Amino acid sequence: MTEEYDVLVVGGGPAGCPAAVQAALLGSRTLLVEKNGALGGTTTVAGVALPGLFHAWGRQIIAGIGWEMVRRAVEVAGDHLPDFSRWDLPHWKLQIPVVPAIYAAVIDETVTNAGVDLLLHTMVGAVAWRDDGWDVTLCTKQGLVPVRARRILDCTGDADVVALAGLTRRSNPHRQPGTLMIRLGGYDLDALDLDALERAYAEALADGRLQPGDVSSDSIATFLRNRGENAIHVPGAGAETSAAKTAAELAGRRAMMRLYTFLKGQPGLAGLRIESWAIETGIRETYTIDGLVSITEEDYVSGRMWPDAVSYSFYPVDVHRPDGHGIDIRPLRYGTFPTIPRAAMIPRENGYLAVAGRCVSGDQAANSAYRVQASCMGMGQAAGAMAALAARAGCRMQDVPVDDIRAAIRRYGAIVPGDPDAPRTQPDLDHAVSDA
Ligand SMILES: Cc1cc2nc3c(=O)[nH]c(=O)nc-3n(C[C@H](O)[C@H](O)[C@H](O)COP(=O)(O)OP(=O)(O)OC[C@H]3O[C@@H](n4cnc5c(N)ncnc54)[C@H](O)[C@@H]3O)c2cc1C
Repeated sequence: MTEEYDVLVVGGGPAGCPAAVQAALLGSRTLLVEKNGALGGTTTVAGVALPGLFHAWGRQIIAGIGWEMVRRAVEVAGDHLPDFSRWDLPHWKLQIPVVPAIYAAVIDETVTNAGVDLLLHTMVGAVAWRDDGWDVTLCTKQGLVPVRARRILDCTGDADVVALAGLTRRSNPHRQPGTLMIRLGGYDLDALDLDALERAYAEALADGRLQPGDVSSDSIATFLRNRGENAIHVPGAGAETSAAKTAAELAGRRAMMRLYTFLKGQPGLAGLRIESWAIETGIRETYTIDGLVSITEEDYVSGRMWPDAVSYSFYPVDVHRPDGHGIDIRPLRYGTFPTIPRAAMIPRENGYLAVAGRCVSGDQAANSAYRVQASCMGMGQAAGAMAALAARAGCRMQDVPVDDIRAAIRRYGAIVPGDPDAPRTQPDLDHAVSDA
C-alpha cells in the first residue's frame, strides 16, 4: 500500500530538519528524506560546523527549533556559547562552533522525538501533481518506492524537487566557488620559516604545482595558521546533477592533494597530517527558485520589513569571487534587521510546494547573506508550519493566513518579525558599522 503523508520534506540540512520537526509537532504526518547517512547538511557532512548568526546587534533574532538543537549540542559537548552581547566583534566570532558528530546525533533525536518518519540514504526520483496531492517516487536501497504527499517542502539547497516538478529555477552565471573543509595537524607553526614558505608557495603557483584558488587567501602562512579549515576553494562547484556533484568532489580532493604534496615537501612540514576532512565539498550557490517575490540586495541591506515576514536573517553580504580568489564582504549598517518573506519560499508557478534554505528566491548578494545556517533554520521552521497548515486546509501555501503561520511558530519558540517586542530596523540610525 502506498504510504500517505501530509508533508514531505526533502533534504535534512539546516532548513529541512526544523521544517520537518515543526510540521510533525503541528500534527502533520511528516516524512523527511535525506540522501546522506547523517542529518545536518552542510553543517555536518560538509564540515561547516559553525551555525550562525542567531543574534544581531546584541539581540537574539532567531530562536525556536534550530536554535534549541544547536544550544543542546553545545551543552552536550560541554562547550560554551559565545558572548552575544559583543556585537562589535567580527561576525564569525558570534557563530556557534558545534561538534558535528554530537550535533548530528542531537538532530536525530529531535527529529524522531517529534514523530517525523525519517529515511536516510533516500532521494526523490519523480514528482507529479494529481488529485490535490503529489505522487512521489523515492529512490531507496530497495528500489523505487511510491509515496503520496499532500504538500512538499524542497529543502535540498539546490531546488531539486522544484526542477523535478518542471518549475523554473534560476542560476547565476558567476556562481560562487565551493569549499572542501579539512583540518591540518602535525606541525609547529612557530618553528616554520614563513617567509621561505611564502616564496615556495609563489613558485608552486607559477609552475602549476598549485592552482589559484587552491588556497582562498593570498598567504600560505594564513592557511597553515588556520590549520586549513575553510580555505580550499573549488571554483565552479555545482550540485544540481550527480555529474556536477561528482566533479566538485573530485576537484576538491585534487586541490587538497596538491596542497598536501606541496606542503609535505617543505622544511618543517614532514610530519604534516590531514586530521579530518569533509565527505562533501560545501556548496555556496546553485539555484534559487522563481518565487512570488524575490529578495534583492537592497531589501536585505535596508532591513526591509516585508508584510509577510516570517523570520529574520542576519549576515554580511558575503560573495566569494567565482575564480575562488577573494571575498566581497560587506557588513550591514548598525541596527539593520533583515527579514524573510514567506512569498520568497513559494514558486510563482505552483503553490502546492515550497522551498526553505539557500534556494529561496533572491539575487546573488542577498542570497550570499540569507543562505547562512541560522537564517535557514528560521525560515525552515516557518515553512514547516506553512506546509502543515496548507495540507490541513487543502489550500496553496500562499493561502495560509500569515498570522496563522506566525502563531504556530511562536508556540515553538520562534521569534516573529513585527511582534511588538521584536527588533526593527531603524532607518535613521547613523552608527558606525561593526568591524565584522
Ligand atoms: C564553505 C562554506 C562555508 C560556510 N560558512 C558558513 C558559516 O560559517 N556559518 C553559517 O551559518 N553558514 C555558512 N555557510 C552557509 C551554509 O552552510 C549553507 O548555506 C546552509 O547549510 C544551507 O542550508 P540548506 O538547508 O539550504 O542546504 P544544505 O545545508 O545543503 O542541506 C541540504 C540537505 O539536502 C540534502 N539533499 C540535497 N539534495 C537532495 C535530494 N535530491 N534528495 C534528498 N536529499 C537531498 C543534502 O544532503 C543536505 O543534507 C557556508 C557554506 C559553505 C559551503
